[in-house]
Amino acid sequence: MSALPNTTFRIFARAPLLAAALFCGLSTLVSAAEEGKTLYETQYQGLAMGTLITARLISPDAKAAQKLEELVSERVDDYETLFTVHREGPLYEVNKRSGEWVEVDCRITELTEKAKAIAEASDRAFEPTIGTLVNVWKIGFGGDQVPARRDIDAALKKVDYTKIETQREDNVCRMRIGKGQSIDLGAIAKGWIGTALTQDLEAAGATNVILDLGGNVALLGKSPAGRAWNVGIQRPDKERGQIFAVVKAFDESVITSGAYERKIEKDGKSYGHILSPETGMPVATDIASVTIVDKDGARADGWCTALFAMGVEKAVKKMAEKKDLGVFILDSDLKRAWVSKCIADRVKILDPEVKLTVVE
Ligand code: ADP
Ligand code: MG
Repeated sequence: MSALPNTTFRIFARAPLLAAALFCGLSTLVSAAEEGKTLYETQYQGLAMGTLITARLISPDAKAAQKLEELVSERVDDYETLFTVHREGPLYEVNKRSGEWVEVDCRITELTEKAKAIAEASDRAFEPTIGTLVNVWKIGFGGDQVPARRDIDAALKKVDYTKIETQREDNVCRMRIGKGQSIDLGAIAKGWIGTALTQDLEAAGATNVILDLGGNVALLGKSPAGRAWNVGIQRPDKERGQIFAVVKAFDESVITSGAYERKIEKDGKSYGHILSPETGMPVATDIASVTIVDKDGARADGWCTALFAMGVEKAVKKMAEKKDLGVFILDSDLKRAWVSKCIADRVKILDPEVKLTVVE
């Protein structure tokens, strides 16, 4: 054996299973911290939901480990279809037939109800019927102009989450949105998908998973070394991959929204992709990034968008109200940060310039 006892590397090269998979089939044997236990790791990379997805998929069962990447590939595609409004699928149908009851998968009505609850609790900072406005701005999917005010106003008239209705009878689910409205679960679906994937992977034999859906991280179990995973938080002012803090987490989601992702630059102004249901404009937030740690990825994702839109003052007040939500906020001055008491001992800031306040 080599200098590292218990560690052997074996590479299985296989053809990509789906066109979307950029890279798959690399399996290595890794040694576990626990004595005598061998873990098998498969790494996955693919493009879906407009983002790069990467994962480390680990199982004590070699056969199971090799099947995990295929499972991610398939399920990501299924879940994207379930919640997308940008191509054919059930929610696309709900929007097309606005004003009518439409039968949908019950997972859609469940997530819709969660979205409505977050809309109410966030005073509409998070607004699931923002769709008409999203379609006027098109930030992140082709939009490069500030739309005409009359188009913004027309879109705004249709934004009102209280008009969404859902129904469940004998496990048949239906929903209806107001005529001319457009539902958009884009700010909550990715979080839901992260949690759903870790559950699917666990059922297929995975014991340790770190799944990164473009800044939305979902975790199953601990790291192969038997400790919490270290999740790096992106520096908003630097290139992708440069981090300013690390959060320790396991069996939960770590979700970050930042001002650095999708935006339009026009006449020296920057317009981000989170829109205000009050003004019809991209929110002018003084938050550089929000990270939320929660068992429920959808809850983390929805609140992440909501707090980001609220700005520092309101978001910090909300943190004090919702003590069970693990929040970490960085001010756009990149000098001040706030962390909820419930996760304070798990957040480590690497930048000595940043002053951290614990919110109790
Ligand atoms: P990301 O995908 O960048 O992590 P988010 O989770 O913050 O982003 O979701 C962004 C998406 O949410 C937008 O692309 C848009 O479809 C939708 N959206 C924009 N503004 C709002 C809002 N105020 N409330 C709910 N959803 C929004
Ligand atoms: Mg979100």
